[in-house]
Amino acid sequence: MLFTYNDITKDVVERPDVCIIGSGAGGAAMADVLSGAGLDVVVLEEGGYYTKDRYSTYKPAVAMKILYRDYGGTIAFGKNPIMLPLGKAVGGTTVINSGTCFRTPDSILKDWAERYGVENASSKDMEPYFKQVEKKINVTQVSPQVLGKNGLVFKRGADALGMSNGMLMHNMINCHGCGRCAFGCPHDAKQAVHLNFIPSALEHGARVYANARAENITVEAGRVTRIQGSIINEQTGNKLFGLNVFPKLLVVSAGAIYTPYILEKNNINLSPELGRNLTIHPAVRITAMFDEIIEGYKGVPQGSYVDAYASEGIMLEGIFVPPEIGLPILAPIGKKNKEIAMAYDHLAAFGVMVSDKNSYGRVKVGIDKRPFITYHFDPYDFKKLVKGIAIASEIFFAAGAKTVNPSIYGIREFTSPDDIAQLFTKKVPLTSVEMMAFHPLGTARMGETKDHSVVNSYGKAHGLDNLFISDGSIFPSSLGVNPQVTIMSFAIRNAQYIVENKKALLNHG
Ligand SMILES: Cc1cc2nc3c(=O)[nH]c(=O)nc-3n(C[C@H](O)[C@H](O)[C@H](O)COP(=O)(O)OP(=O)(O)OC[C@H]3O[C@@H](n4cnc5c(N)ncnc54)[C@H](O)[C@@H]3O)c2cc1C
Ligand code: SF4
Repeated sequence: MLFTYNDITKDVVERPDVCIIGSGAGGAAMADVLSGAGLDVVVLEEGGYYTKDRYSTYKPAVAMKILYRDYGGTIAFGKNPIMLPLGKAVGGTTVINSGTCFRTPDSILKDWAERYGVENASSKDMEPYFKQVEKKINVTQVSPQVLGKNGLVFKRGADALGMSNGMLMHNMINCHGCGRCAFGCPHDAKQAVHLNFIPSALEHGARVYANARAENITVEAGRVTRIQGSIINEQTGNKLFGLNVFPKLLVVSAGAIYTPYILEKNNINLSPELGRNLTIHPAVRITAMFDEIIEGYKGVPQGSYVDAYASEGIMLEGIFVPPEIGLPILAPIGKKNKEIAMAYDHLAAFGVMVSDKNSYGRVKVGIDKRPFITYHFDPYDFKKLVKGIAIASEIFFAAGAKTVNPSIYGIREFTSPDDIAQLFTKKVPLTSVEMMAFHPLGTARMGETKDHSVVNSYGKAHGLDNLFISDGSIFPSSLGVNPQVTIMSFAIRNAQYIVENKKALLNHG
């Protein structure tokens, strides 16, 4: 059964085998496998339950207000504040993500084994889990028919320069190319987890509570015994009823920001590493003006990629937003705003993302009792970002762009490829680049050495026998690619570990 605040008339009390906090990529996949194995599962999700009937009526700006946490305004503070939007809904951030799918790169899995002692997670070990996820969420390649011209012109430029590129793999069925992936797919084409893992968990008997915020976690004699929280009115945010769950095992799947936050807030300080080692995969958006009509808002916004520099940690992927979101970002007011508005049909955009190799961040409970996120962007990684901006600019010019905007304050739009050189001849201060990030990971990293990790190779908390973590926080380093398939695959693997060891893990004393 799925319950929303509308269905609930009194305080909720549950005594399941497993309680899962969060219904995103990690929580939903966990819930499906555990309930499929006969365990009694309750999922608590702070966000609401939204279906395509509701999305299709939302304008993008309204969707941001409803489906994103804090209107999409989560920020990582540092020398340069970085926007780090998060989803808040049944299905978590998968409801508002771009649908891009990558398996975990082999080199990353090897690195985790070597540096953190992560066991039984080689590419060969992970293969069956990748396959299960890809089948469940229907991973297929974006077709040229729905790619849209934004992706096509960038491909044209990359081809002209002989740079490796291609169409991305996506979790979609019958995509209409309507360009709204980041605002909830109005056609249910994007297979976010509320369309697959959650329904099948419900079929297996799981109970999913939307508008249900977990707040207090009680630990007694080394075990989690109780989760207290609130059923919230979706419109007002006010508490309607209390929530008390007494599980045999708790899985925290609140995402890489909210998982360390809720644990620290409850003084469950599993390791000094909790909340540290945050990676975010920093990104920047490059735009270009063409004489030809692009209509970038038509087609899959993130449909193609250039991976010619992936070995250096630089990945280029499509990005495009409708004018009501794009215009205020590109030029909020004045003559420039009008100019871009008039020429929006001629605008193209692409994203540059860099692996955070030396950069790192931290999540703490702030003085206002909300998560406080800090991020140190290392000069080595920043150099990669600037190189990525240069590469994207070159590609746009090779595709025939008239001008390229590198999203750097103090550097004018490029009007010819010769202008790109100034990225290397002038100093580009970190504070001058308009950055964003979409892939927070690492704040409860896995490993076998207790001094360096928060959970073991299967997501079990060091020091607490009935607490697991299943979300982006368990990955010890940046993936260099989009993380949803990695998160779901590890969730399935770790859920199977729980099932195999359920006697020991669930039945204490
Ligand atoms: C705009 C955007 C585009 C993206 N595009 C892609 C893409 O194309 N491909 C890709 O692989 N990745 C993409 N990502 C990232 C990807 O979606 C996330 O990495 C992934 O969903 C994270 O999974 P998770 O389980 O860690 O957390 P989430 O999916 O974020 O789920 C966590 C859930 O926990 C809930 N929660 C938190 N605290 C509580 C609480 N106290 N009580 C109850 N519930 C709580 C939250 O509301 C949320 O629903 C994108 C992200 C964004 C923001
Ligand atoms: S482009 Fe449109 S139809 Fe296709 S997945 Fe995105 S939102 Fe859905």
